[in-house]
Amino acid sequence: MSKDCIFCKIAAGEIPSHKIYEDDYVLAFLDIHPCSTGHAVVIPKKHFESIEEIDSENLAFLNDGARRTAKKVYSVLKPDGMNIGLNDKPAAGQAVPHIHLHIIPRWKGDGGGSMHSIVRAEATEPAEEIIKKFV
Ligand code: 5GP
Ligand code: ZN
Repeated sequence: MSKDCIFCKIAAGEIPSHKIYEDDYVLAFLDIHPCSTGHAVVIPKKHFESIEEIDSENLAFLNDGARRTAKKVYSVLKPDGMNIGLNDKPAAGQAVPHIHLHIIPRWKGDGGGSMHSIVRAEATEPAEEIIKKFV
């Protein structure tokens, strides 16, 4: 538990939340400022800040918690689809520094976009140059 972390406090039950899924490792609850009906966040109960920090076992638990939460949201709210995603680090929009997956239910005609609408910055280098850095 990280002392001043709001999601650690939610996981510990010190701050109330509308839980929609819980197991030994993760908790999913409704977002306080929803982007759509049923927008939920899935968090590991243990504090990790980002994808760089979390270990593979806890990430696997988080992913499976997201899968179970998504199935529950599909069966209860019957959305037409959903976006599931991670804002990793402040540059990508992360406001709460405790890793979490967003589950954002979507309905046909809701006016929203896809992951591709998050940012449309031009690549600064061609793919041939970028790939050289990975080898
Ligand atoms: P981020 O921008 O860090 O990816 O998203 C954090 C999300 O957590 C935001 O969508 C925000 O509305 C939600 N959030 C922040 N504080 C609380 C809270 O105390 N309770 C709940 N239920 N959601 C919160
Ligand atoms: Zn935390």
